Amino acid sequence: MKFDAEKFRENLSARLRRQYGKDISQANSHDLFDAVSASVQELIMPAWMATRHEYEKKPTKQLYYLSAEFLMGRALSNNLINLGIKEEVQKVLKDMNINFNLIEDEEPDAGLGNGGLGRLAACFLDSLATLDYPGHGYGIRYQYGMFEQRIENGYQVEYPDNWLKHRDPWEIKRSDLAVTVKFGGEIKYGKTPDGQDRFYVENAEEVTATPYDMPIVGFDTNTVNTLRLWQASSPNGFDLQLFNDMRYNEAVVRQNSAENVSRVLYPNDSGPTGKSLRLKQQYFFSSASLQDLVHHFVADYGTDFTKFPDLHVIQLNDTHPVVAIPELMRIFLDEYGLGWNSAWEIVQKTFAYTNHTILAEALEKWDIAIFQSLLPRIYQIVEEINRRLMIELRAKYPNDYKKQNHMSIIHDGKVYMAWLAIHACFSVNGVAELHTELLKNQELKDWYDLYPKKFNNKTNGITQRRWLLNANPELADFITKRIGHGWEKDLTKLKGLEKYVDDDASLEELIAIKRRNKEALVDYLKHKQNEFLDPDSIFDVQVKRLHEYKRQLLNVLHIMYLYNRIIEDPSYNAPNRTFIFGAKSASGYRRAKSIIKLINTVAERVNNDRRIGGKLRVVFIENYRVSVAEKIFPAADVSEQISTAGKEASGTSNMKFMVNGALTMGTLDGANIEIFEEAGKENGFVFGLTTPEILKMEEEHSYNPQQYLERNPRLEKVVEQLVDGTYDPTRQVFKEIHDSLVYGVEGQRPDVYYVLADFDKYCKAQEELAKAYTDKKGWARKALINIANAGKFSSDRTIEDYVRDIWHLKKVVVDNGEVK
Ligand SMILES: *Cc1c(COP(=O)(O)O)cnc(C)c1O
Repeated sequence: MKFDAEKFRENLSARLRRQYGKDISQANSHDLFDAVSASVQELIMPAWMATRHEYEKKPTKQLYYLSAEFLMGRALSNNLINLGIKEEVQKVLKDMNINFNLIEDEEPDAGLGNGGLGRLAACFLDSLATLDYPGHGYGIRYQYGMFEQRIENGYQVEYPDNWLKHRDPWEIKRSDLAVTVKFGGEIKYGKTPDGQDRFYVENAEEVTATPYDMPIVGFDTNTVNTLRLWQASSPNGFDLQLFNDMRYNEAVVRQNSAENVSRVLYPNDSGPTGKSLRLKQQYFFSSASLQDLVHHFVADYGTDFTKFPDLHVIQLNDTHPVVAIPELMRIFLDEYGLGWNSAWEIVQKTFAYTNHTILAEALEKWDIAIFQSLLPRIYQIVEEINRRLMIELRAKYPNDYKKQNHMSIIHDGKVYMAWLAIHACFSVNGVAELHTELLKNQELKDWYDLYPKKFNNKTNGITQRRWLLNANPELADFITKRIGHGWEKDLTKLKGLEKYVDDDASLEELIAIKRRNKEALVDYLKHKQNEFLDPDSIFDVQVKRLHEYKRQLLNVLHIMYLYNRIIEDPSYNAPNRTFIFGAKSASGYRRAKSIIKLINTVAERVNNDRRIGGKLRVVFIENYRVSVAEKIFPAADVSEQISTAGKEASGTSNMKFMVNGALTMGTLDGANIEIFEEAGKENGFVFGLTTPEILKMEEEHSYNPQQYLERNPRLEKVVEQLVDGTYDPTRQVFKEIHDSLVYGVEGQRPDVYYVLADFDKYCKAQEELAKAYTDKKGWARKALINIANAGKFSSDRTIEDYVRDIWHLKKVVVDNGEVK
């Protein structure tokens, strides 16, 4: 994009005057952030409009990515990079005596997601725009995103994330496109207001859905796509009658009830949220999005919907938006009078579904009573979909009642959202090779037998624009100096770095860059948390949601073991290490919260023990989120990816670490397997039980954690230390963790996630890692090989895979929107 520095400067000053009544010298960092962002938004606008015009001019199929979560993070720096004007803008600001870093830090993260699933949606939008594909996001404009985590007395405490406290300079409210979403009410059949014989619903609660659009700026292209987020409000405002009667609280009840629908993101990672408000949110944004698409279609093409699937493909990000399937049926049947078969045919050609987890407890199912009272007509449609499915199943498996019952969308008093998705969608994909194989052969085997052609794999990816170019500018320069530009849009070009793996000067430079990135993180932690880290130590990092299957507990138990060893074994001689954690726990997930407390307790003990003499430090980074992640990955030496084999569907932090030159310490799980395949196992540290080994133990019920305790006194000791007063004089705080490993609690088997079984192998792999680190050059060589082989893990590759196999989109090149 052409950048006019003088105009930008004038625009900025004028905006400060107009909006804040201030000149540059009076403005504070927040005013400046807002004014700079608004000026950048203005630069985006022509291309955004041109993109929309282009899509309207030449009707072509467009993708709509329906997702309850978009973990966008900050936009300012990313937008500047994608527009290609970051350096120019920084220069203008510098000339005006404005510190870019300070104003950048004023931007709150758009934390509208929990973790990997939401961040994936954000990376996909970046890739779609960059690759010139017409693809947009639809979601919810949560008033409160992911909670802010503070650590108090070692415990996680949650505070509301009021990210919209100031206005968001990137969004545009589109009141003209508001729609109404209905809940509850009674189903009627008969003449609708316009005289048709149809089903309709009476006495429903009406909620207004108003869209807010955010621009998704492609890198080095004119394409600017749209993320459309719906906000809920009451169509009638508050009740003036009640207010005038001085019944103030009652007057706003209806208003609050409507606004509650988009109030908060449920901070719940994997596990289902059995709250009816959650189902309300799901239907709210699914219905609003479909109404939006259908209105637009009808305005352009009328009511012959046979063309609908030629112009729309809808990807359902997990089961959260699956209620969109019966909603589109409802719109076709009840609002446009289509027959069932025509409607069903269109629906089946429109939707595709991505599965993100095989954890049985995470598959969404809703109580019939809740579903039916909240969405009576939608429930009726699901029943009819299921009635027809059951006819098929009875014909196909006439004597297998168990299978028929298991596959029924409605059974045991619940509505199974994944079953509805698999039955209705033309594509079902997993998110890494192992995960897709497990879906086909284990969790969804019955469905794979029924619909083998629907199943396919799309290994996740990450955008190198945010996670390398923007987050690690020095490494980006290092790469460009050697292989030129081009990798920003084709990450496989990194392969060209292999020429340098034995080049001493390159390795020295790589080491120096990592060192400076570590210093930057040290600085951040000094200011933010008053923590003092040693940048010469190994930065061994595990950042991700806190979940038992991710096994942060295995990491801590190893640290407790190292601590014992350093104290007991005078011959211990290994590089200094810093173990860094960052993790939020779901607010109601008690055991995960205890593990956070354990990490902080061990940190407190280890960091204050003088005998340790710098050999070991443990740090828990508060409030892990996208903007903090951008500081962590560039500084990491080691990427901890130690989930129980078979449990992590893909993982994406593993990819962010890899492209930033960290070595993976990992199990053969999710996309780790593909990472080791690409980089070579010898350039990382593989350990632990494999998925087949675990499946076998599960089948035979042959896992006995006691054996591992008996065989390994060092393990026995650390497990005992959870309850012997070493870390907690009351001996109660970690008792539940202890008992869950040793005995099993609340009817669970002991050590469900095979922590004890993998402990010894993990310790050995860690020992090997420490040894490898003493060879600085050898380590840097491995790091460079990892970077050179990270090409597969770009979300650009993932998007091209989706386009080729599922979406069948055509690129739309947008003219420069500036020239009219
Ligand atoms: C990438 C990312 C994740 C996903 O991490 P995993 O280790 O793959 O679970 C979660 N949170 C944030 C902020 C991320 O950037």
